[in-house]
Amino acid sequence: MNDLSPMALGTAAGCVDAPVLRERGQREVFCGLTGIMWLHRKIQDAFFLIVGSRTCAHLMQSAAGVMIFAEPRFATAIMEEKDLAGMVDAHDELDATVERLLARRPDIKMLFLVGSCPSEVIKLDLSRAAERLSKVYHPDVRVLNYSGSGIETTFTQGEDACLASLVPELPELDTDEPNLLIAGTLADVVEDQFARLLDELGVGPVRFLPPRRSGDLPAIGPSTKLLLAQPFLSDTMQALTKRGAQLLSAPYPLGAEGTTAWLKVAADAFGVTDEHFDAVTKPGRDRATKALAPHREKLEGKSAFFFPDSQMEPSLARMLHQECGMDIIEVGTPYLHKVMVNEELALLPTGTTISEGQDVDLQLDRVMAARPDITVCGLGLANPLEAEGLTTKWAIELVFTPIQGYDQAGDLAALFTRPMNRQTRLKV
Ligand code: SF4
Repeated sequence: MNDLSPMALGTAAGCVDAPVLRERGQREVFCGLTGIMWLHRKIQDAFFLIVGSRTCAHLMQSAAGVMIFAEPRFATAIMEEKDLAGMVDAHDELDATVERLLARRPDIKMLFLVGSCPSEVIKLDLSRAAERLSKVYHPDVRVLNYSGSGIETTFTQGEDACLASLVPELPELDTDEPNLLIAGTLADVVEDQFARLLDELGVGPVRFLPPRRSGDLPAIGPSTKLLLAQPFLSDTMQALTKRGAQLLSAPYPLGAEGTTAWLKVAADAFGVTDEHFDAVTKPGRDRATKALAPHREKLEGKSAFFFPDSQMEPSLARMLHQECGMDIIEVGTPYLHKVMVNEELALLPTGTTISEGQDVDLQLDRVMAARPDITVCGLGLANPLEAEGLTTKWAIELVFTPIQGYDQAGDLAALFTRPMNRQTRLKV
């Protein structure tokens, strides 16, 4: 196995200092409301009330139509023309909606008021509303707010904004004992696997943000070591470090190598010996390597191009290059926060184009010139590119599918081999 210790990562050149192609043109990315799709399933007694328009409701409905598996824990309070025209007090309307909702759903213990483009345009102050409603419903329901508007956020930034809004609510830790906080929504099954592995390693106590129940918010303080499970949480990371948490920089737990490197950073921070680390992680590493092998056979030497979408692009590109032998042509990301992804950039091959933001026409010209074997892009671009004969992968699937950890490494690689197989079959 490659040496992925922090020292080895720190000396790797890769793309850490690569010039970044910054584009600020038209972009094709979902807004931050989409994060509710996975957040509402994670925090099981929370409810997300979008203060928005019919467009917002339609977006959520169509995304939820394929993704929802449980009793809905989100809804849209639709702003009508009279709200937008200032003919009624939107705060009164919102208070009445919240009252009806909480009377009907006593299971709700945390209510997020989620801002949208329309609420932002009429400058509806949701933080004031949250403060007011918190006083009314305290201590039964905590009311918080964040923005998922397309003016302010892209796709995964919705989760970042949501988790950042939770940080002031976290209790102060009353011990100097080292503890680990893992931030970023993971599927429950993945979270359980990591909790088990970290326990076997002797790393802990370990807490997760977001928690499964709103009453179970993790306490933090200067003895908290922070490990990010998702690369798009820059605001949350900053809010947590301001509260004293120390960031552990690591690649993200995608694939056998990524998962090992991520766990190793945590293990080193808690003084776990190399021997014990190898003994605990070897079965998982072996399972992941075995699961990846048939996919590597199909992906090796093939090329990939990433349009900006989820901010997971550098991590996915690293995994495809390092663990599946793919050539990476361009890694586009809506925002490039180097402090969040330096460890991934270090493992990308020198010469890869790293782009931040989007000018979609220029990027389409580049992808057509490069004609990669697979293009990872948003839903809106996939059909036109398929019509041009390119094989595409919807970026959104990589966010909705549990892909982190050893036991999901094969599933992650399969998300890339499947469209290629389909293309091959169509050609036959
Ligand atoms: S928040 Fe804005 S971008 Fe998102 S669905 Fe509503 S109107 Fe559209």
